[in-house]
Amino acid sequence: MSNYKIETRCIQDGYHPKNGEPRVLPIYQSTTFKYDSSEHVGKLFDLTEEGFFYSRLANPTVDCVERKIASLEGGIGALCTSSGQAASLIAVLNICNSGDHIISSSTIYGGTTNLFAVTLKRMGIEVTFVNPDESVEELQKEIKQNTKLVFAETIANPALIVTDIEKFAVLAHNNNIPLIVDNTFATPINCRPFEFGADIVVHSTSKYMDGHAVALGGVIVDSGNFNWDNGKFPGLSTPDESYHGMIYTRDCGKAAFITKARVQLMRDLGSTPSPNNAFLLNLGLETLHLRMERHCSNALKVAQYLENNENISWVNYPGLKSSKYHDLAEKYLPNGSCGVISYGVKGGREAAVKFMDSLKLAAIVVHVADTRTSVLHPASTTHRQLTDQQLMDGGITPDLIRMSIGIENVEDIIADIEQALTKIQ
Ligand SMILES: *Cc1c(COP(=O)(O)O)cnc(C)c1O
Repeated sequence: MSNYKIETRCIQDGYHPKNGEPRVLPIYQSTTFKYDSSEHVGKLFDLTEEGFFYSRLANPTVDCVERKIASLEGGIGALCTSSGQAASLIAVLNICNSGDHIISSSTIYGGTTNLFAVTLKRMGIEVTFVNPDESVEELQKEIKQNTKLVFAETIANPALIVTDIEKFAVLAHNNNIPLIVDNTFATPINCRPFEFGADIVVHSTSKYMDGHAVALGGVIVDSGNFNWDNGKFPGLSTPDESYHGMIYTRDCGKAAFITKARVQLMRDLGSTPSPNNAFLLNLGLETLHLRMERHCSNALKVAQYLENNENISWVNYPGLKSSKYHDLAEKYLPNGSCGVISYGVKGGREAAVKFMDSLKLAAIVVHVADTRTSVLHPASTTHRQLTDQQLMDGGITPDLIRMSIGIENVEDIIADIEQALTKIQ
């Protein structure tokens, strides 16, 4: 369906029923699949014939959702996972071994920071976090002989920094290594990183893709563009003895990366999504283009309202002209960025808490990017054990409020903020 526009593919791609089959993607709630001969099953294992045999590796419901997401990102294949964390982990482990090194933007999701700095480190993979605003020349100094990939987020959660994807792609490709981009906040509706040189895209589908806060999930998408047969990735270009000697670059061509991720790592790690969650994700994807439009237009209106409010000390939203990242947003996110904004309430930590507790429509939740407007005050929740000084050192001011703007009527969202602001005066 690649000749159709992205809105049409959101709705109709992935699942293509034949005559008399269900119109809507069915939930194949089955761990296993029946065959008439062992010879047939043998061919499935050899990957010489397509088909399903065990839902840890592939399931028809999940498969349709993977095809849809691959289409939306412009990739050649995708692998759904049980969460966004599992997607990032598998994407990295697919090309890195103990003794390897990776480069990551320092402004990434906190969970990914921990995964890289703590858990990957324990597994013998070293990470260097870099300032995403540095030049290619500066960033090049951090590359080592054993550096295997570069990692960044299109729009960083929660700093809302827009990454110069082309710059990171140049850095990676100058060194014959791939660029992996976490595109969770932008979604393929607002940015398709492959068009700017990214090689692999990962998502937490728990955010806008699901969009209703009902199903955790993640996905890895392969552009098919990276040449893994350049001597740096023996895991892809030499026989995999655990999969009867398969050489992914030789036997799978452009799909080397995504095939290895499935038949080797998903086989061994088992962080598979359930067919039911894949069904829910598919429902979310059907309206992704509509929801993103409204999330972005609502967020821009709220950001503009806050910018002109005397009780607010600062507002950070890439869509605002005042944003340091406005030029990058114009280039990479011309149709809108995301629905998440952050801002400071005058009066510091105390005023921020009072403001938050006075909100009626916006609920305090540890989640972003679903239909309902929500808020979080890191200083009094996720980072409450830190002093004001420690918070500042970590780039989080005590007055920082992160607000995920939903798709309610924007006048109601602004009225809620307005009444809560009167409580702190
Ligand atoms: C939430 C999030 C993740 C982690 O995803 P889970 O589905 O919660 O495991 C990764 N990256 C970004 C940008 C996120 O916002």
